[in-house]
Amino acid sequence: TPGVVDSGNASSQQLLDELFAPGHDKGSCLSRYEAILYRKPSSHKPSPYLLSKLRSYESLHNLCGPYTEAYNKTLEQLKYGRKVSTTDCNYVVYTPLSGLGNRMLTIASAFLYALLTNRVLLVEFGSEITGLFCEPFQQTTWLLPRDFPLRNQFDNFSQEYPRTYGNMLKSRVINTAVKSPPPPFPYIYLAYNIDFPSFKQELSKLFPDEETVFHHLGRYLFQPSNEAWGLITRFYRAYLSKADETIGIQVRVFDTKATPFQTVMHQILSCTLKEKLLPEVLYVKNSAASLSNNQSMKAVLVTSLYSEYYEHIKGMYWTKPTVSGEVIGVYQPSHEEHEIYGNNMHSMKAWTEIYLLSMSNVLITSSWSTFGYVAQSLGGLKPWMLYRPFNGTTPDPPCVQAMSMEPCFHFPPSYGCKADVYIGPGAIVPHVKHCEDVEWGLKLV
Ligand code: GDP
Repeated sequence: TPGVVDSGNASSQQLLDELFAPGHDKGSCLSRYEAILYRKPSSHKPSPYLLSKLRSYESLHNLCGPYTEAYNKTLEQLKYGRKVSTTDCNYVVYTPLSGLGNRMLTIASAFLYALLTNRVLLVEFGSEITGLFCEPFQQTTWLLPRDFPLRNQFDNFSQEYPRTYGNMLKSRVINTAVKSPPPPFPYIYLAYNIDFPSFKQELSKLFPDEETVFHHLGRYLFQPSNEAWGLITRFYRAYLSKADETIGIQVRVFDTKATPFQTVMHQILSCTLKEKLLPEVLYVKNSAASLSNNQSMKAVLVTSLYSEYYEHIKGMYWTKPTVSGEVIGVYQPSHEEHEIYGNNMHSMKAWTEIYLLSMSNVLITSSWSTFGYVAQSLGGLKPWMLYRPFNGTTPDPPCVQAMSMEPCFHFPPSYGCKADVYIGPGAIVPHVKHCEDVEWGLKLV
C-alpha cells in the first residue's frame, strides 16, 4: 500500500498487537490486523497479568455470553424475580449516555469493572453507534440481545430509579440485618456519584504503569469495523500519509457565545506558535522563503463540528509562505455543525475522526472533551490541551502539555466527606492528580 508502513512478509499473526488472542477472523475485522501498518505499535507494554486476565475473561464471555445455557438460566431468574438455579455467570449490563467519547470511556470503565469482579459485560449501544466497532471477543457477542427482558426499563434508569442498591436499602427491599435472598439485579447509577469499591491491589497488578489503563483497554475493546476502517484509511491515504509529520487539532466548542471564533482561533495559533508545533508565516510579499528548497511537509488534521477553524488555518498557510519554508497541508474530514443523536453516519464520522486524531504525531485538544481524551489515549499521546477560555479572552498560557495520556474523571467523589472537608486524592493515591483542564477532576499519571 503506498504511503503506509511496509508490512513486508509479516504474517497476519505477526501484525496482531499482543493485546489480542491469536486466531481472530481477519476478514470480519481488518483493522485489528492492519492498524500496525498505519500507526506505530504502542510503546507501553501490557503487563503479563493483564494479558492473562483478558484471556480468562474471553473464556468466561464464551461460557456466559448471549444464548448460552448460563445466559438463558439467568434470564429466567430475571423473569421470575428470584433465583431459580445457580450458574457461574454474573453480568454487568451497560446502557448508553451522551456522545461517542463519553460512551467509549464508560464502556471501558464497565469492562474494567467486569474484569475486576469476574462479570461478563453486555453492552447496549443504541442505534447510533451500532456497526462502529468490531466484536472484541471471538465466537460470541458483547451486544445485549434485542429480547433482553429489562430493556423496557432502560428509559426509567436514573438516580431515582427504585432498584438502585441505595434505594433498595432505603425502602427495605434489601435488608442487611436479615438474611434474605438478594434481588435478581440492582441498578447502579454512576454518572455523577460513585461508590468506593476498592480494587487497589488488583489494579496495580493489572496496570503497573498507571497511566495506561484506558490506553490498553481502549485499544483492546475498540477496533474500527470494516466500514469505519474504510473511512479512516481512505482519508489517511489521500491526505495524511505523505506528510513528514501530522498535527491533530481537535476543536470542541461547548458554548459558541462564551467562546467566540476569534478567541478560540487566536488561542490555537498562540499555542502552535508558542510551543513551536507549527511554523510562523511570512507577511512580506515576494519573499525568498516562498521559493525555499525545504521539501518537508506537515499535515494538519482539524476536527470540529464547524468548518471555520479549518478554513482559517488552511487560508493562512496557503496564502503565505512559512518562515521555515515547510509546506503545510490542512484537512478536515467533516463539519457536522451540531451534535446529533440517533444518527449512525454522524457517529461513524465522529469515530473516524477520533481514530485519525489518534494517529497524529502531535495532538492539540480542547479542555473538557471526552472526544479528545479518547483520541489521546488510543494514540498513546500526551496532548497540548487548550485551556477553556473565559469571558471571551485568550487564556495565558494558551495551552499546556498533559501530564499523562489518561482521560480526566470529571466528577470524582471527595475523600473527606465524613469530616465535611475536601481532601485531595494525592494524599491517598499518589499517582492520581487533578486534571489540567478540570480543576476538581482527577486523572491517573
Ligand atoms: P464531548 O462532549 O466533547 O465530551 O464528547 P462526546 O463524543 O461524548 O460528545 C460529542 C459528540 O459531538 C460526538 O460524539 C460527535 O457526535 C459530536 N462531535 C463533537 N466534536 C466533533 C468533531 O470534531 N467531529 C465530529 N464528526 N463530531 C463531533
